[in-house]
Amino acid sequence: MSRPIQAHIDLSALNNNLHVARRATAARVMAVIKANAYGHGLLRAADALRDADGFALLDVRDAVQLREAGFRQPILLLEGFFSRDELPLLAEYELTSVIHSQHQLDWLDAYPRRHGLSVWLKLNSGMNRLGFGPAEFSAVLEKLKSHRAVCDTTLMTHFAQADEAVGIDAQHEVFKQLAGTQRLPCSLANSAALLRHPQTHGDWVRPGIMLYGSSPFADVSAQQLGLQPVMTLSSEIISIQHLQAGDAVGYGATFRAERAMRIGTVACGYADGYPRHAPSGTPILVDGQRTRTLGRVSMDMLAVDLTGLPDAKVGSRVVLWGEGMPVDEVARAAGTISYELLCALALRVPVSS
Ligand SMILES: *Cc1c(COP(=O)(O)O)cnc(C)c1O
Repeated sequence: MSRPIQAHIDLSALNNNLHVARRATAARVMAVIKANAYGHGLLRAADALRDADGFALLDVRDAVQLREAGFRQPILLLEGFFSRDELPLLAEYELTSVIHSQHQLDWLDAYPRRHGLSVWLKLNSGMNRLGFGPAEFSAVLEKLKSHRAVCDTTLMTHFAQADEAVGIDAQHEVFKQLAGTQRLPCSLANSAALLRHPQTHGDWVRPGIMLYGSSPFADVSAQQLGLQPVMTLSSEIISIQHLQAGDAVGYGATFRAERAMRIGTVACGYADGYPRHAPSGTPILVDGQRTRTLGRVSMDMLAVDLTGLPDAKVGSRVVLWGEGMPVDEVARAAGTISYELLCALALRVPVSS
């Protein structure tokens, strides 16, 4: 027997969530699989998402892996190329590149051959992370339209607050001003905009988090959106402890029992990707029943309250998040977002599907 922690990836849930995205839009769906498919495994996720019209990620080596695995869809590099040296690879593997900065244009100008590169020109409409500002955008677009190395251009931008009450109007307005008059394909929407702002769908939507069964909104659950959990992180109780009133739990003794308690030690810690910042009281399932964590999360272990679970014992199954325990709830308790928890799944955790 090895350490009982494992992550299970539900491939049919992933496929279900892709079809939730599909039903919400007439646009083509570019499935975002950056960060090892948000921690789910690049090829495993891409295979379950093979009905997608395209894939978006960051690393050219991952893109090459997808091509070599036989995926024929457009593959978009969301940060574009990082040096001139990558350009031949983009041509060889027919990869699509975001162009967001002048230095990338310079590399393109210096590229010796005709190329046939598909590019997505990024407008910085207000997020101020990547993209050409409104003042430069039109000139760059004119240049790309006649560039010998470029065969087609899609226009894109990214929203900073699509999941929040203020929404996307200001950024959308900037995009429409500059892109609205062009007869070129457009892409604006992440998961939140896909679900809440249909006027932004354009030709390509770019859902990420919703595919993995998590809600992009603080006020709507994944279940309410028809999304199914994809990753279930589970482990087991490996020790039972009995506390007297006044006894403390874990490093720093941050939890102290007010009365006699039975607690369990779970084989899962921050070195597995569980957030160290999850405070006492973070929800967790033991034998399918909700309970709470106690004290600080250690590197390899954490403690759970078994006081109300008399049947729980060494070997009882614990679900950290996933089936029956929404990752969004765990993230909220830990003061973060599901994205961070899913992406942080550690290499040492065995993954099955
Ligand atoms: C990560 C990312 C997405 C996907 O965002 P979600 O909130 O996960 O849907 C879409 N577009 C760009 C440019 C991204 O970087």
